[in-house]
Amino acid sequence: MERNHLIKPTLDQDYPTISHGNGIYLYDTDGKQYIDGSSGAVTASIGHGVLDIVEAMTEQARKVSFAYRSHFTSGAAEALAKKLSELAPGDLNWSFFVNSGSEATETAMKIAIQHWQEKGFERKNRIISRWTSYHGITMGALSMSGHVPRRKRFVPLLEDFPSISAPYCYRCPHNNETSGCKLKCADELETAIQRVGSENIAAFIAEPIIGASAGAVTPPDGYYQRIKEICETYDILFIADEVMTGIGRTGKMFAMEHWGVTPDIIALGKGMSAGYTPIAATMITDRVMEPILKGSKSIMAGHTYSANPLSAAISLEVLSYIERNDLVRAAEEKGQYLFKKLQGLAEKFDIIGDVRGKGLLLGLEFVSDRVSKTPFDLQIGLTPRLVNKAFAKGLIIYPAAGAIEGIAGDAVIISPPLIITNEEIDRLVMILEASLDELQQELH
Ligand code: PLP
Repeated sequence: MERNHLIKPTLDQDYPTISHGNGIYLYDTDGKQYIDGSSGAVTASIGHGVLDIVEAMTEQARKVSFAYRSHFTSGAAEALAKKLSELAPGDLNWSFFVNSGSEATETAMKIAIQHWQEKGFERKNRIISRWTSYHGITMGALSMSGHVPRRKRFVPLLEDFPSISAPYCYRCPHNNETSGCKLKCADELETAIQRVGSENIAAFIAEPIIGASAGAVTPPDGYYQRIKEICETYDILFIADEVMTGIGRTGKMFAMEHWGVTPDIIALGKGMSAGYTPIAATMITDRVMEPILKGSKSIMAGHTYSANPLSAAISLEVLSYIERNDLVRAAEEKGQYLFKKLQGLAEKFDIIGDVRGKGLLLGLEFVSDRVSKTPFDLQIGLTPRLVNKAFAKGLIIYPAAGAIEGIAGDAVIISPPLIITNEEIDRLVMILEASLDELQQELH
């Protein structure tokens, strides 16, 4: 096959060609089997080759695949928006559909700004985010992200939004590991608001559990309650970027439910269609919609493919499949099983400094010295080496912070499809153990 026209992520790398998928497994055209231990990019949450989805897809395609949203609404898109409002906490009753997580967070930003404009606060247009975060690759989303390599080339063109520290307990930004957590990382939000002026700030955005830029970094209890309190005190909207965590991945339908906090806006993607089609959403509360409903009556965002009936029908069937098969509970149960297995690996391999995450969004961080938590020199390339070893042995895991220049800590994400069985988890862990064995021997 001619392979010199498609731009792949790394141009001098030879990628296997995908043939097909079934359950947690992917197969290349040479017949090699891979456990999809990361669900791709934390996406394929119901596994591969699910025929119920193929049927829903075919049924909708037979009727109509595309009708432009300025001309028609569709039964599929209406039903999907209704279903999401039933699943979401509080009064997150409105959905705006887009095609990727980046578009969902960027739309969240625009809706937050528009909300304040329609209330007469023209200057409330800054977004505060956390350094160590990833909200997407488009310029607005990147302006809110702290992912150094992805920002680097474009920094002069990005909005200079304020940022605060992440609730990175393993490497507490306030050195509270020993003295006890006082949620100072949450209080940083208050300081940032006071510095910039609440009259200039539209929203604060955060991933409930930090994914791509850190490897399932989970905040201390009380963190989001404090964040929400600060947002309310200063009239700042709270956007939860649930692109990676949403739709069951962490053992709750929405990760923010772990802390009982209802955000004003939620961005969804990935698991919303479990990889069966590109679709994402920005969900909005009644309160945030109110001035827009009374005012311009139109959200100034959207794309040609927004709310297309085919993607909506597929996503609707994915949500129904997750409910029918009790996969949110499965994520919690299997997550506990996998977590214990990973802790077992940490007992064997002293390069594992931290095991973290919730449900089936788990992370491992690696250190050259456990006591001092000294990270490996980035030149060693620990994360890519481990990821490549596992891939060669037929296990896919997701590289996280190790790819970030200038930020300490190699890390990977382990996030298999929510349908994984205990026996399959055992196989996954066995291959991971063999890969770590090989790596540890090379390092000594
Ligand atoms: N937000 C979060 C939390 C993500 O993890 C990602 C992707 O990894 C995005 C946004 C961007 O999503 P997409 O790659 O679909 O544009």
